[in-house]
Amino acid sequence: MQDNSKRSEVVLPQRVAMATMHGKEQVLRPVFASLDLELVLPVGLDTDQFGTFTRDRPRAGTMLDAARAKAEAAMEATGLSAALASEGAYGPHPTVPFLAAGREMLLFVDREQGFEIVEMMIDEEPVFAHCQASSTAEAAEFLERIGFPAQGVIVAAAGRLNEPVAKGIRAQSDLEAAISAAVERSAERKAHIETDMRAFMNPRRMEVIGRLGGQLAARLSTPCPHCRHPGWGQVRTERGLPCSLCGSPTSLPRHDVFACVSCDGEEKRERSPGSVADPAYCPLCNP
Ligand SMILES: [Zn+2]
Ligand SMILES: [Zn+2]
Repeated sequence: MQDNSKRSEVVLPQRVAMATMHGKEQVLRPVFASLDLELVLPVGLDTDQFGTFTRDRPRAGTMLDAARAKAEAAMEATGLSAALASEGAYGPHPTVPFLAAGREMLLFVDREQGFEIVEMMIDEEPVFAHCQASSTAEAAEFLERIGFPAQGVIVAAAGRLNEPVAKGIRAQSDLEAAISAAVERSAERKAHIETDMRAFMNPRRMEVIGRLGGQLAARLSTPCPHCRHPGWGQVRTERGLPCSLCGSPTSLPRHDVFACVSCDGEEKRERSPGSVADPAYCPLCNP
């Protein structure tokens, strides 16, 4: 444990830089205003330089690396010493075959006071899908399912996904033109149509980012019970729920771990006190 007795009270910054070109500030601004934090958008910063969803510029490193790079750039561009950055990653569900899942991350950095807070949210029902079609009529069911035109799409020639014909499509006429152009360019005479995952094109993402913002704001306003530093909250889950037959730790979650972003303070809370695991999950009873 650090000696916190000499630590001066940490006061949250009032102005926080946020690098976004994708309208995320619309859902985050009101959330942070409730903590008297104002989000400041740098003018003319190209956040797509940190990687995009549209394959033109793949992201380097982890989500956290990318979020830190965005936060740094936002502080640089605004001269502020605190920043907020958002990252999302969409792909196959980690455990359920044929399902998609999204991960959203929000990073808060206070460079002057030397701490950061990371909040994550898994979206089990993301709007993240694609189809192949040679006309809008053929894509009708797909378009209905993803919520076009509120949800935007990207169109590419099938087999040439790295060179999209058009992005951010939200009008029927634009969609028709893009599908025709893609079919022309495709050896298979098919267009590849996929959900545009940029937040301002994806209402579902925007909603999840707003909820995640609420989660981060709650953490920022929760002081550590040991040192009073803001940012106390759940940081991970630990497995090891005991087997009901033999008591061995299983792979099922047992504790939620709460921790401080500044001192070593940590608390384990049992998820459901007294509960035990079905022996089917036990490495000894059901190897
Ligand atoms: Zn067992
Ligand atoms: Zn603490």
